[in-house]
Amino acid sequence: MGGPLIGAALLLALAAPVRPFQLPTANHALFDKGGEERFFVGTVGKPWTTGTFGCVRSGGWQMHEGLDIRCLQRDKHGEPTDPVLATADGTVVYLSTRPSLSNYGKYLVVRHQVEGLEIYSLYAHLSEFQRDLKPGDPVKAGQPVAVMGRTTNTREAISKDRAHVHFELNLLASDRFAGWFKKTFPGQRDDHGEWNGQNLLGIDPRAILLAEREQGPKFSLLGFLQGQTELCRVLVRKTSFPWLKRYGALVQPNPRAEKEGVVGYEVALNFNGVAFELIPRAASEVKGKAKFQLLSVNEAEYHKNPARRLVAKAGNHWELTSHGLNLLELLTY
Ligand SMILES: [Zn+2]
Repeated sequence: MGGPLIGAALLLALAAPVRPFQLPTANHALFDKGGEERFFVGTVGKPWTTGTFGCVRSGGWQMHEGLDIRCLQRDKHGEPTDPVLATADGTVVYLSTRPSLSNYGKYLVVRHQVEGLEIYSLYAHLSEFQRDLKPGDPVKAGQPVAVMGRTTNTREAISKDRAHVHFELNLLASDRFAGWFKKTFPGQRDDHGEWNGQNLLGIDPRAILLAEREQGPKFSLLGFLQGQTELCRVLVRKTSFPWLKRYGALVQPNPRAEKEGVVGYEVALNFNGVAFELIPRAASEVKGKAKFQLLSVNEAEYHKNPARRLVAKAGNHWELTSHGLNLLELLTY
């Protein structure tokens, strides 16, 4: 009897749904029907939707790059005490310990490898980190890494009733961020090196967590990224940049370019600037010599999600804005 039973248990374990990401606190109301009010914290006087990811603030013109997850546990002074948990197995890469240096307050960044893709989770407004936690430390999914708090450097403090963890899942734009920042914003301070929020391109953690739950073992992060809605398509006259390696799985084959020689990449961007499809192009396939050439714009998506202002309409044609050009400079730096 023992043999087959153990075999069956092993098979079950192997077939168990693999969910690469987990909720970062004990608040699981995201998964309850109608549980949004108990899960998200909106901005002052605004509905819970302003605590979700996307163009959800200032009438759609301000981006919120993560989820603001409501606190469940408080001390006798009403301060949040929820343990903050690693969303997946990974490695700690950054602890920002001085709240005055960021609107994230004290924050933590963890690197994960999922299906060969590098994803960075970020946890912000923390009160403290798990004791002795430092960059390089491995963490396990669900492991406590910090305690929820209300730290921030913004003029307006986070009130006790709005206590939350700000949780992000990101792709890393470039490991040459510090150099790019110095060149692009001379004289400005970058206190966080490549762990500056500008270098982290957020994807929607809520959509990922819900898709994982719905699709079970069929969920694929690569599929999720490839399924992003296109905001625009750009030709970049660059053939070597970190994104191509870090997110090589997003590069599509093109035998013609491989045969004739690659002169650049056609890049599809979602509304938040995530390059989710890259196609190598040969000289015979491209026109013009511009470093960055806007090929097309999905107007419906622009009207739905405009906050990043990557493109704009000038008269009756579309162009890349300074924000769009900055993003492309960073992605290809
Ligand atoms: Zn937030």
